[in-house]
Amino acid sequence: MMLLPNTLILASHNSGKIQEMSKILASLEVTLISQSELNITEPEETGLTFIENAIIKARHAARYGNMPAIADDSGLEVDALKGQPGIYSARYGGADSNKEKNIAKLLAELKGIPESQRSARYQCVIVYMKHWQDPTPLIFQGTWEGYILNAPQGIGGFGYDPIFYLPEYQCSAAELSEEQKNYLSHRGKALRALISAFRQK
Ligand code: IMP
Repeated sequence: MMLLPNTLILASHNSGKIQEMSKILASLEVTLISQSELNITEPEETGLTFIENAIIKARHAARYGNMPAIADDSGLEVDALKGQPGIYSARYGGADSNKEKNIAKLLAELKGIPESQRSARYQCVIVYMKHWQDPTPLIFQGTWEGYILNAPQGIGGFGYDPIFYLPEYQCSAAELSEEQKNYLSHRGKALRALISAFRQK
């Protein structure tokens, strides 16, 4: 039996993600607290999969915040780079990386690769843990297919959005409205799966 808690920690320091997740979870009657409000530091992401890293983050937040927690681990898989940057998406441009450095590195790696071979997808795994020793974390997943552009376009979203092209909409993810992105995105899909799991109980 899955009871909806009154309060949940959102185990992320990424303000872009927190904003998206709070919007999507607004329909659940739950108070969301970001882990930075509780002064919880970020754990080291030592896993080799999105699932392991999301569990590490949710467990850490639930342990130090002493409350149920949800964590997201996500990233971009580029087919021409055999799935890279994948779980290393946030740190692709180096240890002190940021969005600009990550995008510059990815565009450099894909230089000369034709449009037809620039397919990619965002992956998102959301983990819910009732408490830090929860032996059965709930795991939800979402994907979003697109192509990598040759140059950034648009100012919305975060991370790789300005170079993530959506053929059906003929624009980048950074040119969508917040509502459109939340409806289509890997994170939106995974979070809606979590919401419906809570609602079924
Ligand atoms: P995490 O915070 O360790 O899960 O790192 C995820 C990284 O993947 C982010 O820092 C971004 O670089 C990238 N990423 C994940 N989701 C998105 C998205 O919706 N838009 C753009 N970049 C994303």
